[in-house]
Amino acid sequence: MAEDLHKLKNSNSKASKMIVELQKHGIHNESLLSLMLTIPRHDFVEPAFSHLAYSATPLPIGRNQTISQPLTVARMTEWLLEYSRMGRILEVGTGSGYQTCILSHFFNKVHTIERQQRLFERAQKRLSQLGVNNVEYLHGDGHVGWPTTLTVDAVIVTAMASKIPLALTDCLKDGGVLIMPLDQPEPMIGCWRKMGVQWKCLEESPAQFVPMLEGLVCE
Ligand code: SAH
Repeated sequence: MAEDLHKLKNSNSKASKMIVELQKHGIHNESLLSLMLTIPRHDFVEPAFSHLAYSATPLPIGRNQTISQPLTVARMTEWLLEYSRMGRILEVGTGSGYQTCILSHFFNKVHTIERQQRLFERAQKRLSQLGVNNVEYLHGDGHVGWPTTLTVDAVIVTAMASKIPLALTDCLKDGGVLIMPLDQPEPMIGCWRKMGVQWKCLEESPAQFVPMLEGLVCE
C-alpha cells in the first residue's frame, strides 16, 4: 500500500513536470493539460521503461512499436480540439491505447484500428480497466478502413505512410479533419480539412512515426 502511494506520488510529480514542458512548447488547452496530468502514462509503456514514461521521448510499447512522445500526442489532440467537431473519430494505430484514451475523453465515440493482435488485445484490456467505454476496437488494417459503414468527424493516423489511404478519406464527412503523418516530401504530420474534393492544409509539423504497414499480425 505504502509502496503504491509512493509510486503514485512519484508519477504525479513526473506528470506535473511533463505538463510544464508541454506548456513551454506551446500547448495551452487547459482541459487537455489537466487530462494528461491524470492519465497514468506509465501503465501504457513497456514496464522496463515506465520510469521514463513522462519524459520527452518516444518509448517502446511492445512488438517493436512505440508510443509517441507527449508533445506529439498533445499537439495532434490540440489540433483536433481546435478544428474538429467532437462527435465520432476513427483512429488508425491503437498501439498502447494512450492516444485512444485521450480521444475517448473528448469525442462521443472513438473507433480504433490496430493491425497487431497482441497490442490490440492489451490496449482493449488496459482501457476497460481505466473505465473507458466509448471505444470500438478493431483488429484490422487501416488501409482497408472500418468493416461497416462509418462516417466520422475526424480521422487520426498514428503511423507514417507515403500516401493517404482512400478508405480513410472516404469515411470522413465533408468539413471533417484528417491528421496523418506522411513521409513525403519529408516526414511531416499534417492536419487537413476535407472541403468537397479539395483539402485545406490547416497545420503541419515535422515528426517521426513508425511505418503504416499492410496486413494483419495474428498471434
Ligand atoms: N498512438 C499509439 C502509438 C501508435 S504506434 C499510442 O498512443 O500508443 C503505431 C501503431 O500503428 C502500431 O501499434 C502499429 O502496429 C500500428 N499500425 C501500423 N500500420 C497499421 C495499419 N495498417 N493498420 C492499423 N494499425 C497499424
